[in-house]
Amino acid sequence: MLKSYKQHANRASMLKAGWAFPDPPEFGECRTCGQPVEWVRSPKGKNIPLDRGTCHVHFESCGKPSTTPSPAGPPAGPPAAPAAQQLAAALTENTAAVKALTDLLQRRAATSR
Ligand SMILES: [Zn+2]
Repeated sequence: MLKSYKQHANRASMLKAGWAFPDPPEFGECRTCGQPVEWVRSPKGKNIPLDRGTCHVHFESCGKPSTTPSPAGPPAGPPAAPAAQQLAAALTENTAAVKALTDLLQRRAATSR
């Protein structure tokens, strides 16, 4: 079970609580979700990743997409699929042509015998 860290409003508040921020900052990427993080020392001396440039412990947001969520509902696509309709029509035409050719060849084979 993940330990939950107290979320601070700002870094000054974290400093007061005993957190330490390396200078220069130690940037990295989360090994789990690949998000950019910043390593800081917890009051207990542990290395804890923060969401880079924030005072939010990354464990709290890890794995959650940082991008804006897509609007609700399915994306509005074109009402009909003209490409699919054209393809179906072309295939029907093609099938008829193949059938005609097959008939012709069969007739030719029959007469040449
Ligand atoms: Zn992560």
